[in-house]
Amino acid sequence: MKQFRNFVAGEWVAPAGGEYFENRNPADMSDVVGQFPLSGAADVERAVESAWRGFELWRRTPAPARGDVMRRIGDLMVKRKEEIADQMTREMGKPLTETRGDVQEGIDTAYYAAGEGRRLFGHTVPSEMRNKWAMSYRRPIGVCGIITPFNFPMAIPTWKMFPALLCGNACIFKPAEDVPVTGHMLVEIMLEAGLPPEVIQLVHGVGESVGAAIVNHPRIPVISFTGSTETGRIVGEICGRMHKRLSLEMGGKNAMLVFDDADPELAIEGVLWGAFGTTGQRCTATSRLIVQDGIHDELVSRLIDRARALKLGDGRKKGTDVGPLINQNALEKVERYIDIGQGEGADLMCGGQRPTAPGTEKGFFFEPTIFARVRAGMRLEQEEIFGPVLSVIRFQTVDEAFAINNDVRYGLSSSVYTRDVNVAMRAIVELDNGITYINAPTIGAEAHLPFGGVKQTGNGHREGGWEVYEFYSETKVGYLDFSGALQRAQIDNYLGTPD
Ligand code: NAD
Repeated sequence: MKQFRNFVAGEWVAPAGGEYFENRNPADMSDVVGQFPLSGAADVERAVESAWRGFELWRRTPAPARGDVMRRIGDLMVKRKEEIADQMTREMGKPLTETRGDVQEGIDTAYYAAGEGRRLFGHTVPSEMRNKWAMSYRRPIGVCGIITPFNFPMAIPTWKMFPALLCGNACIFKPAEDVPVTGHMLVEIMLEAGLPPEVIQLVHGVGESVGAAIVNHPRIPVISFTGSTETGRIVGEICGRMHKRLSLEMGGKNAMLVFDDADPELAIEGVLWGAFGTTGQRCTATSRLIVQDGIHDELVSRLIDRARALKLGDGRKKGTDVGPLINQNALEKVERYIDIGQGEGADLMCGGQRPTAPGTEKGFFFEPTIFARVRAGMRLEQEEIFGPVLSVIRFQTVDEAFAINNDVRYGLSSSVYTRDVNVAMRAIVELDNGITYINAPTIGAEAHLPFGGVKQTGNGHREGGWEVYEFYSETKVGYLDFSGALQRAQIDNYLGTPD
């Protein structure tokens, strides 16, 4: 069995404690993908010392040259796309079509970062005084701790690390323990592309030890975390106490709103993809379907037929629509919510159990599940399940639909199916989410736009697009006085009025 290593202080090394954990295929638990370092605080300590050395070198490398490294990373990802997708499906479970998309998101992010190396704009603004210039520019911060979840093993680490590196920072990367192979491949590619070795440190292990050691380390001033709202709260408390710069991307309870005038077929395609793609394990998954009275019965009955026809299985096999859940805990959590939903009086219309089809017995599979007659306020309707479970809620008026969408503690994405441009525009303005899609599902973010959510989904930062570059850099202001005289600002000698 292959034993993998950390990448610390410029070399591939065994963990200080000499312990390893196994990574298995969630579609077939007899398939061991490899053994990975069960690292601890000592490994993080070494990584921090080295990362600061890497930072000193990298921050002096011109941004366009840093961008060239990002471009080469993108090129190598293109070359290895198929191999990465295959291994990602093996360790994470989602079908190859989805893991290819996950890699593509990383490629797009690399090329965007490459271009940003020649922008990274600051401002030059007029000074209040004569013969004086005022300008701002963006400078790197230092060492960034990167903590990522299992569901987008490539896209999310690249969303964080490529902008962080382009800005001139060094990174300590802890991938989710369920998807360490993809993290390993990404670091291999970064090194092959010419990133100076000490600029990137890869420390495998579990959240409570390696993740916590990164978050608590006084010499890691920047933390970027994506994961559950519960873990994010722990991370946030520590970072708050330590005055760290922190980006949190957390849970969701996203809704699709379907109005009577919608194209039903389009809406059904959208909800199937939104609710059951990635086995419902997307932060932007559609977990609530809010349907107007007039179209409700027809839509739900057609949707149930389509959900029943989805093919569960190994994501590496052709024809698989839905892969397994990530692990035993995730499976048990979904099962708990089936009981909760039934206890609350919702109607279980399809699914609700593990499948019996041959080929599914060795993995964490669960049937696509639809509950109808769900009412706003039920736990089923309020809490993130992170599995293939869809709750259907009936509504009468636009205001009612918007209120149901907004009345949850999360605020990542929403989707509206209507042909009425007024309703569509009102939705973009009034729905309390970071992203609203019109006539498209709740998933499908593009790498060059800001991504993130409001309320307990995030803490105000965004990934992707131009905004993330502000998170990974500090604004520095420079004033240059070439008058040869002492000119005093904020004193009553304002020279703005013409002589
Ligand atoms: P998780 O919170 O269990 O783990 C996320 C990461 O945090 C993992 O690397 C884990 O090892 C680490 N971790 C765990 N405990 C830690 C601790 N005490 N200190 C530091 N690190 C710790 O989440 P998950 O199950 O991997 O991912 C699913 C969750 O992520 C869902 O809630 C989903 O909505 C969310 N998510 C959000 C986004 C977004 O952009 N908003 C994207 C993807 C996933």
